[in-house]
Amino acid sequence: LPRVQSPSPQNALIDIGGLFYARGWSVGTCSNYSIVTSRDPLQLCITASGKDKRSLTEHDFVTVDGAGKPVGSTNKPSAETLLHTTLARVAGAGAILHTHSVWGTLLSDLDHPAGQTVIEGYEMLKGLSGVGTHETRYALTIFPNTQDIEALSVDLEKRLRDESRPIRHGFLLRNHGLYAWGNDLAEARRHIEIFEFLFEVVVRRRMITLIR
Ligand SMILES: [Zn+2]
Repeated sequence: LPRVQSPSPQNALIDIGGLFYARGWSVGTCSNYSIVTSRDPLQLCITASGKDKRSLTEHDFVTVDGAGKPVGSTNKPSAETLLHTTLARVAGAGAILHTHSVWGTLLSDLDHPAGQTVIEGYEMLKGLSGVGTHETRYALTIFPNTQDIEALSVDLEKRLRDESRPIRHGFLLRNHGLYAWGNDLAEARRHIEIFEFLFEVVVRRRMITLIR
């Protein structure tokens, strides 16, 4: 039987860019995506800085090592590369996706004082790996936004290792966007889709409650 050729990491992420641009989650060259291509030593294929996600090409990526340094490429990796390498190293993520959506941005601001947004009672929560029922009180962490990605990656690592307040599936950055990950790209993409659906539901519901 002929072998089915699986797409390269670059081609798989080019597809993600087209999809997320169309959904309005990756407009204005914002956001970034990565896939782990080697575990030992750790290497990731990640979008290069400032590329239009609607029309990524195979030249718009960089391979980086576990410290976020480019390996054999002159492309500049995304400014947020250290968050990707931290998630790959500490959370064991195989793929990491980051979006800047309207609803995620609004929710990250509204709930920032509590440090988390709580999502409860929705069937779509079952799309998050390991969540078996809608009767789940799901707390999604919101970090303050910063341009100091190195400091943020240290905070993120601490929280990923803190078993009393575990971070799984994803987190929000205030007034910025969503990070979500999975064992592979399909799982990471599913988590983004689930979170973005739930963000819109939660914020729209609050708006309806205000006017009725
Ligand atoms: Zn971002």
